[in-house]
Amino acid sequence: MTRPFNFSAGPAALPEEVLHQAAAEMLDWQGSGMSVMEMSHRGKEFISIAHQAEADLREILAIPANYKVLFMQGGAIAENAILPMNLARGGQTDYVVTGSWSQKSAKEAKKYCGVNVAASNEADRHTTLPAYGTWQLSDDAAYVHVCSNETIHGVEMHELPDLEALGSKAPLVIDCSSHIASRPIDWSRVGVAYGGAQKNIGPSGLTLVIVREDLLGHALSITPSAFDYQIVANNDSMYNTPPTYAWYMAGLVFQWIKRQQEGGLSGIEAIEARAIAKADLLYDYIDTSGFYVNKVNVNCRSRMNIPFFLNNESLNDAFLSGAKEAGLLQLKGHKSVGGMRASIYNAMPLAGVQALVGYMKHFAARHG
Ligand SMILES: *Cc1c(COP(=O)(O)O)cnc(C)c1O
Repeated sequence: MTRPFNFSAGPAALPEEVLHQAAAEMLDWQGSGMSVMEMSHRGKEFISIAHQAEADLREILAIPANYKVLFMQGGAIAENAILPMNLARGGQTDYVVTGSWSQKSAKEAKKYCGVNVAASNEADRHTTLPAYGTWQLSDDAAYVHVCSNETIHGVEMHELPDLEALGSKAPLVIDCSSHIASRPIDWSRVGVAYGGAQKNIGPSGLTLVIVREDLLGHALSITPSAFDYQIVANNDSMYNTPPTYAWYMAGLVFQWIKRQQEGGLSGIEAIEARAIAKADLLYDYIDTSGFYVNKVNVNCRSRMNIPFFLNNESLNDAFLSGAKEAGLLQLKGHKSVGGMRASIYNAMPLAGVQALVGYMKHFAARHG
């Protein structure tokens, strides 16, 4: 059976190989007689799954030893509160607004700390990236928060800001939910990276928080214990029962990423090269089509989430129903933006983007 290509923004498509492996192991994980869902998180079987997943993620992203990897719950939206509770100490923070997700983060943080919006692209309808040199950073911020890939507006930071060079001593916090594991991370610029798993890593229910050790231990006293980074770290992410099955699935995805190595490229390098090729293919076609348009500035277009519009929006429904018939699923844009959105995460093969472009050409020829 060939499956349709799934362009969902999240929960999103997973590598087919991973789904097959999970299916094969569903009733009996490696001779244990148990499904991973049925295992104690404290048993030796699950502990081995958990350790392997963390080791593989550390290898893929070259996470330095002085960073903790926390496997939490609540998603990135819960992190909007959990982060300031852990890092802000009730003081001042900087937020850069580049789309819906960072806007939501800044709004939630205001319940727990002072929030300075250091830069915003709202006046450009979230289609640009404010030049790093223009950010109005505070002198005393506990951290600077950015969303390094705006899933809804399709704006990506292709290089993370170097806060020290911008005159800030604060650690950078990135919400990287929708492009984590699509490229290497420059840890010299990052204090905390967090993201929900359901875009590029696994099923929903798992939230990764990768935090530099010196940032632990400053949580407000009202912080729920299960969300206190220090307590979670001290308990190897097992203070409460972690999302065990999602953790296992993420581990299978990490192994799949490692297997993508080819030629002189590591798994993550091969994944990044493929992401660039897929995104270029789609943007190049959109830009030259005369039928479709992407409104994001070329210097900050997301490789993962590509919103686009038909010049004749009365054809939207016909476009979507034809796409579904052609085996191209979940292309409808986010309701706040409209139009279409193609999310082409790691699990989307080049063939899927080729099929989409083929369909778009065909549709344009018929209706142009
Ligand atoms: C999807 C997403 C979120 C929201 O994640 P939840 O799991 O619903 O909390 C937040 N930020 C970004 C960048 C996202 O892509």
